[in-house]
Amino acid sequence: MEITEIRTTDVSTDSWGEFVEFPLVTVMSGYEEYNNADGDNPQARRKWMGPVGDVVVEVETDAGITGYGAGNWATGAISTIVEETLSKLVVGEDPADRERLWDMMYRATIPFGRKGAAIEAISAVDLALWDIAGKEAGKPVYELLGGKTKDEIPAYASNLHPVDYEKLASEAQQYAEAGFEAMKLRFRYGPEAGRKGMKENEAIVETVRDAVGDEIAIAGDAYMGWSVRYAKKMLDRLEPYDMEWVEEPVIPDDIDGYAEVREAAPMPISGGEHEFTRWGHKELLERDALDILQPDVHRCGGLTELLKIDSMASAHDVPVIPHSGTNPHLHFIAASTNAPMAEYFPIPEWYEERQNEEKESTYADAIYANPPNAENGAIPVPEGPGTNSELNREALEHFRVE
Ligand SMILES: [Mg+2]
Repeated sequence: MEITEIRTTDVSTDSWGEFVEFPLVTVMSGYEEYNNADGDNPQARRKWMGPVGDVVVEVETDAGITGYGAGNWATGAISTIVEETLSKLVVGEDPADRERLWDMMYRATIPFGRKGAAIEAISAVDLALWDIAGKEAGKPVYELLGGKTKDEIPAYASNLHPVDYEKLASEAQQYAEAGFEAMKLRFRYGPEAGRKGMKENEAIVETVRDAVGDEIAIAGDAYMGWSVRYAKKMLDRLEPYDMEWVEEPVIPDDIDGYAEVREAAPMPISGGEHEFTRWGHKELLERDALDILQPDVHRCGGLTELLKIDSMASAHDVPVIPHSGTNPHLHFIAASTNAPMAEYFPIPEWYEERQNEEKESTYADAIYANPPNAENGAIPVPEGPGTNSELNREALEHFRVE
C-alpha cells in the first residue's frame, strides 16, 4: 500500500462548546486581561488560545483506505508543518512502516520541533497510520496493540467548572448517580487571588466532597496556574478532602518544582498533558516529578510514541491516565495493563438546560461521528476497525477555520 495524499482541516475551539468560557484557573491567570476566575471575562481564554482547537488529518492510500488522525492543541502551525514537511516525507511511502516514518518525521522537524506544534503534527499523521493499519486488518486498533486487558473502560467525569456552588454540587451528584466513581473539578484561583482565592479553591473541593460523600474519588485541575510555593500551601490545606490527584500544579518546564510539590503534597500529583515524546516524559519519570502520567495521544507523538511512554511509566510504577478520552485513547487504555481509566466529558444538566434555552447544540467531540459514550461510569471498548475516528462531516464543515 502507498500513501497518496494528506489533507488537513483546522477546527475551531467552538467545537468544544462553551466550556472555554467558564471560570477556572489557567496558566495565564496572572494577567488580568486573560483571567476569568470570576466569570465576568468569558472570552479570556479565547484571547490567548487562538481560534484553532484541533487539526484533523486525513491520509489517503492507493488501496482506497483513508486514515483519520487529529493533532491537539493546536494552531494553524500544525497544518503548515503537515503540508510543508511531513507530507513530503510520507507521501509515496507504505503506511505500515510506522516506526520508520515516525523517526523520519521526528528528525526532519528537530530544528523547529521537539515539543509543541511539530510533535502534535506528527501525532496526527501517526494516528492516521494506525487507523489505516486497523482498517486494513479489519480489526480494532487495540487488537494490534496486544489485545484487550479490560472488558470496559472505567471513566472519570471531567467537568465541574466552578460556575456556582449550587450548580457544582448538583453536577457532582448527577455524575455520582450516573455511576461515575471518580470525577475531576477545576480550581478557580491562583497566587494572584491571595488567601481569599485559596479559601474559594478549598470551598470548591469541599462542595464536591460534601455532595458525593467519601466513596467517590475526586481529582482537581490547576491547569499550570500555580507557583511551587502556592501549590504547597494550597495542597496542604486540601488534605482533609482525600483527593485522588491534583493535576498540573505548576508549569511543565519546572520539573524540579513538580518534584518539590509532589514531595510535600498530601495527595498524588499528576501531569504530562503538555509534555512531548519519550524524551520529555523520561525526564518527568526519572526525576520523580509525579505520581500519575497524563500524556495526550494527539500531542505527545501519536500512538507509536505513547506506547514507548507507557512502557517507561510502567517500569517506574507510574500509571498512565491519558489526557482527554478520545477513541484512539480508548484503544490504548483497552490494551494497556498500566492505564486504569479514561477521562470523559459528560454534559452537566445545568448546561444542557441552558443550551436548550439559548444556544445551538455544540459540544466536545462534535467533529467525530462516534464519540465515546459512558454508561454507568464506564465506556465500552471500541470495536470497529481502526481507531474509530470517523468524522461528522457536517460538524467538520461547520467548525472549519479558514
Ligand atoms: Mg488537565
